[in-house]
Amino acid sequence: MKPVIALVGRPNVGKSTLFNRLTRSRDALVADLPGLTRDRHYGEGRVGERPFLVIDTGGFEPVAKEGILHQMAKQTKQAVAEADVVVFLVDGRQGLTPHDKTITDFLRKSGRPVLLVVNKSEGMRYTSVVADFYELGMGEPAVISSAHGDGVHDLVELALDTAFEQRPEDPQELEKTDRGVKIALVGRPNVGKSTLINTLVGEERVIAFDMPGTTRDSIEIPFERDGKQYTLIDTAGIRRRGKVFEAIEKFSVVKTLQSISEANVVVLMLDAQQDISEQDAHIAGFVLETGRALVIAVNKWDGLESWQRDEIKIDIDRKLDFLGFAKMHFISALKAQGIGPLMKSLDQAYAAAFADLSTPKLTRALIEAVEKQEPKRKGSIRPKMRYAHQGGMNPPVIVIHGNALDAIAEPYKRYLEKHFRETFNLVGTPLRIELRTGK
Ligand code: GDP
Ligand code: GDP
Repeated sequence: MKPVIALVGRPNVGKSTLFNRLTRSRDALVADLPGLTRDRHYGEGRVGERPFLVIDTGGFEPVAKEGILHQMAKQTKQAVAEADVVVFLVDGRQGLTPHDKTITDFLRKSGRPVLLVVNKSEGMRYTSVVADFYELGMGEPAVISSAHGDGVHDLVELALDTAFEQRPEDPQELEKTDRGVKIALVGRPNVGKSTLINTLVGEERVIAFDMPGTTRDSIEIPFERDGKQYTLIDTAGIRRRGKVFEAIEKFSVVKTLQSISEANVVVLMLDAQQDISEQDAHIAGFVLETGRALVIAVNKWDGLESWQRDEIKIDIDRKLDFLGFAKMHFISALKAQGIGPLMKSLDQAYAAAFADLSTPKLTRALIEAVEKQEPKRKGSIRPKMRYAHQGGMNPPVIVIHGNALDAIAEPYKRYLEKHFRETFNLVGTPLRIELRTGK
């Protein structure tokens, strides 16, 4: 499970600047696809070999009783409850404000480990930056500049070490054997996820696995179908973390992100009886960012007239057109209709995600693609692609080597992707093309 870092602090202290810095390298992996709206509050980051999730909680007004600020405070509370460690940002240029004290009180009640961090410290003396903030009683503050990057790396290492100490030992980790395809079932509340799990696995078994009060971060539900092994990744509900956080919403973005990143294949569930929402699109965006294989299940297909079905298909194609690589199935979890074909596509997506693509085969496909259509010159520069090898699986990464590959434009990259996809029948998985120019 990737540790979760929540960024908390009053507006304008530099949370989103820090968030962008932490998630930037990941950002580059997902081209801004048409139609893809991204949720800028949740992201993945990595220092060295250590991946993590980061939440930007936006502006926090703990005292607001209603309206948008109240809503934001609620979201901040949930983020804090789900975080392994909280990075509490304050503004070194402005100094301590009453608001910082209110947030301190709130964080103390949360029981989560908190790192006090003074931002905007570039060009200032350590002692004068931190002097003000000892008063908060949060210990020795770390000092960073989000804008310039000073101290950020050390901060993340400290945060991850702190998060790691928090982790309860996962008893399942020890006995983890090969359990076949790991599946994350995601979708907004009430689309029918639990119903589908019951249909796939059987109700009694779900209840047995879903015992409240356990401290485990995730539960895994193994099942078998047509002689094949699968495991449903389900991240357990919020661990109890003190009274303030008892009323946590049923749907959790963090939980969703964690199960996506643990899985091989994601089943994105949509509700045929509701419009496709921004939340659906955000969840789809997360799947793309992690590069997991994907199958779309449009649920509650029962009881709909054929004209309604046509309208839904159009709506989905329009709003989620960036998921063109994934197969879509119309199912009824409740009546157990359409499940067989859905599982078939899931197997296919898994196979595509782990396809073994040899260098000769890839290079041959590359040469074929170039023969059909050469990349355009950029001025006097002509990119020359020489060979391709596989750089990873789940998602498959195809690394192309050659000269002047920087001159290759995005549309040509998409053309190559399409060509590889068709040649190797890679249905249901994203595919990444990396261009490497030799010296
Ligand atoms: P948020 O509201 O907490 O998300 O704050 P933002 O990230 O939007 O930053 C608020 C303002 O502070 C922006 O104008 C940033 O450019 C500026 N800022 C953020 N980090 C730094 C920093 O390290 N040094 C300085 N001098 N300014 C910063
Ligand atoms: P979750 O929040 O995503 O786990 O959704 P649930 O599985 O709890 O389902 C929410 C509601 O939708 C329940 O009342 C289900 O009975 C209903 N539901 C689930 N699947 C179907 C379906 O295929 N058809 C219809 N008509 N209702 C369904």
